[in-house]
Amino acid sequence: MPVFKTSALNHSATSPCFYFINFGAGLSAFLPGRWRCASVQIAIIQKEVFMKTENRPKVVYRFGEGVYLNITNRCPNLCAFCIKTKWHMDFHGNNLNLQGREPSASEVVAALDEELKKAPFKEVVFCGYGEPTMRLDVLLFVAQTLKGWMAQAKYPPFKIRLNTNGLGNLINHKDTVPELRRVVDVVNVSLNAENETVWRRIVRPEEGYENGYEAVRAFIRSCVAAGFDKVVASCVDQTGADPKAVQKIAEADGAQFYLRSFLDAQN
Ligand code: SF4
Repeated sequence: MPVFKTSALNHSATSPCFYFINFGAGLSAFLPGRWRCASVQIAIIQKEVFMKTENRPKVVYRFGEGVYLNITNRCPNLCAFCIKTKWHMDFHGNNLNLQGREPSASEVVAALDEELKKAPFKEVVFCGYGEPTMRLDVLLFVAQTLKGWMAQAKYPPFKIRLNTNGLGNLINHKDTVPELRRVVDVVNVSLNAENETVWRRIVRPEEGYENGYEAVRAFIRSCVAAGFDKVVASCVDQTGADPKAVQKIAEADGAQFYLRSFLDAQN
């Protein structure tokens, strides 16, 4: 059963659906009793259908100058600062709850092609409410397709970015960096802590990933060595980590440091 945010249920008074639904409801005022009830019920069903259509899970969404890809909701972490539960799987009006139905690679490509035509963009970012490397095959296929479109100059030049928790090698039981390097330009890794104890407390990894901190650092170093256009290691402010100490580690591993603000009540 889809979970809708209350705000998403409040239709704009200027939307065509609003007029249609209210025309139906208004008409019922002129009908006799039994027909009036039926008419009101139809208006309610119409409204639910419109809500579901307008609030369909988004695989592709826009934010700033980027087009973002939400290919999974799965993640081996449960970060204390993760906004997906606090924001009820909504991101600035985009419903990112895939409800267990992850899109196939060809569905992602089709949705992406449709969205890219609509407006200019500077980058395509693998970043939704889940860890993209959980679906490495889909990620690589979509990014490879994007590189193909770039080579054909189908769209103006853009960057391909991966936002990741840095656990992709552990998740996939192999070194993912060479394959990623072929199709991704920029990698943003959530480092989040200055040591494993703090990391565990903040990202709350599931069983099997408890010792992941060193794997995240090794992934960062490996990305730097592989020569991506940019490798960024980030830390979220106000989580209990020491941003200055995290910055030192990020820079020692060869990455640029980015301190991200604590997103909580901004949606
Ligand atoms: S790694 Fe990202 S998606 Fe996973 S719990 Fe942390 S913030 Fe959420």
